[in-house]
Amino acid sequence: MNFAELGLNAELQSSAAQAGFTAPTPVQIEAIGPVLKGRDVLATAQTGSGKTAAYVLPLLQLLMAVTAPRDDAPKKRTTQVLVLVPTRELATQVSDVLRDLARPLTQSIKVGTVFGGVSINPQMMSLRSGADVVVATPGRLLDLVDHNALHLGQVQHLVLDEADRLLDLGFAEELQRILALLPTKRQNLLFSATFEPTVQTLAEALLSNPARITI
Ligand code: AMP
Repeated sequence: MNFAELGLNAELQSSAAQAGFTAPTPVQIEAIGPVLKGRDVLATAQTGSGKTAAYVLPLLQLLMAVTAPRDDAPKKRTTQVLVLVPTRELATQVSDVLRDLARPLTQSIKVGTVFGGVSINPQMMSLRSGADVVVATPGRLLDLVDHNALHLGQVQHLVLDEADRLLDLGFAEELQRILALLPTKRQNLLFSATFEPTVQTLAEALLSNPARITI
């Protein structure tokens, strides 16, 4: 199985190759097709499995269809993809993967990264021209929404990465507040290392007929 057979376009195949990905990992083989088709996904996958690129590659392809070429980049972008993560470290890692894989593309895709524990002002400044993709920890995301620095009303794709840790760290309430700000019609992807009952309850509430992936 290769990235082309999974439905990735030539530009993203080239991005993956430039990142050093010669062949898709098992979670990528299972997830890329369903994400490209717009399906919800429920994946049990550990860190190290290649789970980040499993959603980043197909979501970038979906974004390429609705973003502008580089020389025609818009003044203000609307956030179409929201990735919620439990920690600053994961926010940084996921953003790095997104930027690396988006850099070679002909479309201009901007990634915003927000997390707590640091001053909010630079994050507000960096979001002034909008971001196509926002990678965020829940509390700081809500602060930025409250400051009118970010609007979530156009989000078409939601990813919960390390959903078990999001719940373990006590983000359930923030999560519910965030979900209420999103359009009801959207694609939902849930990745979790474990599948404990709290994650199961969240998955049942969030996902509609998901592709189920266990690695
Ligand atoms: P993750 O599970 O997303 O944290 O990824 C773990 C590591 O695997 C990262 O260093 C990725 O760069 C790398 N990786 C992801 N997909 C592939 C692939 N298809 N081939 C080789 N390495 C990969």
